[in-house]
Amino acid sequence: MSTHTIDIVDRLYAYMLDISLREPDVLRRLRDETAKHPMAIMQISPEQGQLMQMLVRMLDAKNCIEVGVFTGYSSLVVALALPADGRIVACDISEDYTAVGEPFWKDAGVRGKIDLRIAPATETLDAMITAGETGDYDFAFIDADKPGYPEYFERCLSLLRVGGVIAVDNIFMDGNAADPDTTSENAQAMRKFNAMLKDDTRVELSLIPIGDGLTLARKV
Ligand code: CA
Repeated sequence: MSTHTIDIVDRLYAYMLDISLREPDVLRRLRDETAKHPMAIMQISPEQGQLMQMLVRMLDAKNCIEVGVFTGYSSLVVALALPADGRIVACDISEDYTAVGEPFWKDAGVRGKIDLRIAPATETLDAMITAGETGDYDFAFIDADKPGYPEYFERCLSLLRVGGVIAVDNIFMDGNAADPDTTSENAQAMRKFNAMLKDDTRVELSLIPIGDGLTLARKV
């Protein structure tokens, strides 16, 4: 027993997956495909995907946003949890990355739920706000370039309904966010973003130490 979050050593991590992971075959195949990619580290872990699916269902989410698609594992995770008339606006700037996931989206029968927008995410989100979609979204996942997080967060918060949730990835930045001496641009950006979020009274917060740290911000 512990009064703080337990260290997830390798044996415990393996046990955790063994007793709880229910990854559908199509997700496992996309994960295997992504593992061959030189930027494979950018993919979320399968247990994080499973948590996000539960969140989407708990929120009765219909309209979702994703900032940072990479090879489309998290888009597929969300799309599989959405009802038949649900959709996810998936923002990325790389057609090369997203092209890896597209055949798997089709395979899973959810291609129609994923509205892929290849453009800088701020442009896509601004266009959605201009189109009057403020307050229309239930869930957003932010997992893109770290210095851009404050911009993405503001826009997603506008697009979210009250009670909607933004999940923000890589809060720990591989542990470097906790190191004040760190010089990496990404770690510094995350430290700044995390400090900002802590004082943001527009949201309720919970940081889940899953994957590389996932903060849930619920719009109040
Ligand atoms: Ca990530």
